[in-house]
Amino acid sequence: MPDKPILLDLTSEELKTYLITLGQPAFRAGQLFAWLYRGVPFPEMSTLPQALRQTLADQAIDLPLRLHAAFPSQKDETVKFLNACTDGNLIESVLMRYKYGYTLCISTQIGCKMGCAFCASTLHGCVRNLSAGEMAAQVILANRYLGEKGRVGHVVLMGSGEPLENYDQTVRFLRLVNHPGGLNISLRSVSLSTCGLAPQIRALADEGLPVTLSVSLHAPNDLLRQQIMPIASRYSLRELMEAVRYYVTQTGRRAVFEYALIDRFNSEREHARELARLIGHLQCHVNLIPLNRVEERSLSPASPEAVRAFLQTLESLGVSATLRREMGADIAGACGQLRNRHLKEADKPAIINS
Ligand code: SAH
Repeated sequence: MPDKPILLDLTSEELKTYLITLGQPAFRAGQLFAWLYRGVPFPEMSTLPQALRQTLADQAIDLPLRLHAAFPSQKDETVKFLNACTDGNLIESVLMRYKYGYTLCISTQIGCKMGCAFCASTLHGCVRNLSAGEMAAQVILANRYLGEKGRVGHVVLMGSGEPLENYDQTVRFLRLVNHPGGLNISLRSVSLSTCGLAPQIRALADEGLPVTLSVSLHAPNDLLRQQIMPIASRYSLRELMEAVRYYVTQTGRRAVFEYALIDRFNSEREHARELARLIGHLQCHVNLIPLNRVEERSLSPASPEAVRAFLQTLESLGVSATLRREMGADIAGACGQLRNRHLKEADKPAIINS
C-alpha cells in the first residue's frame, strides 16, 4: 500500500486538486488549509462535513510530527523540542524568545552529511531529507506549545541538516510558510543558513524569495576552511563570495556570515583582518559565535579575550559584527546535540509526550 499523503506537503492549489479527486468542491481547500496550519486534527475540523473528515482521516496525514519531548531551559526562555516523524525518526527544533518575539530554529534533514568538524548534527550522517510539511509541522507544533503565550514570528533554517542540499523541499517550505491562509510568516523574518553550496545559493537568489541568507564561514581563507569544512574543497571562497554577492544583488538583502571562534585556529587578530578583506566589499553582517563544545569533537572555544579582540578588530575595519548570545546552553543548544544525546539515551526529558 502506498504511503498516505502528508497534506501539509501540498500547496493550496495542490490541495484543491486533491479535494476535487475526492469529489469535493474547490472552496473546501481554503478551509482545510487553514485547519492544517493551526494543527487541528481531521476529526476536529468543524467546518468540514463529517464524511469528508472521516475520508481524510482514513486516507491522509494531517500533522506528520508528534511532540516527543520538550526541554525548557532553566536559564532563559529557550525550549528545545524533540519531535517524532511518522517513520519514528526524531528531529529537533529550538524555540527562542527575543525582544521582537518568538523565533523557531528548525531542522531540514534528519542528520546531515556535510561533515563539518565542529558540528554534532553530522556525526551519524544523513538519514533522509525532511519534506516541506515536516518543516512546517515544526512551526505548527511550536505554536501549539506556546498556546496563548504567542506565536512563532521568525523562522531560522539552522537546525540539523543542510537546507540547500534539500533544495526543492526547502523552497516549497518557504512558499508555504509565507502563505496568508496558513502560517503567514513574512519571508523577511526567515533566515536560511548554509555551509556554502554556491550553485544553490545562486538558484535561490532567482526564486524571488527575500529570505536572509546566512553563510557558515568559520574561516577567512580556503586552507583553513578546508580543514574543518569538507564543502570548502568543493567550492572555493572565491566562488562562494561571488554567489553571495549575486544573492545580495538579486534580493537586496544583506548577507550574514556565521563565524564560530575556535581556540588556536581561526580567532587571531590577523584572521579578523583577513576576514574583513574577504567580505568587506559586501553588504553584510558577521555573527560571531563562541564555539559550542561538542563532546565528540576535540575543538575548543576561543577565550573571551580573543573573542573581544576579534570583534573589535572587525569593527575597527568597518565590518558590522555582533557576538551571538548563547541561549539554552543547559539544554544542549548546539546543532544536533540533543538528538545525539537522545540516540545515546542518556538523558531524561523534562516533559514527555507519549
Ligand atoms: N547546514 C547549515 C545549517 C545548520 S548549522 C549550515 O551549515 O549553516 C547552523 C549553524 O550552527 C551553522 O553556522 C553551523 O556552522 C553552526 N554550528 C554547528 N556546530 C556548532 C558548534 N559546535 N558551535 C558553534 N556553532 C556551530
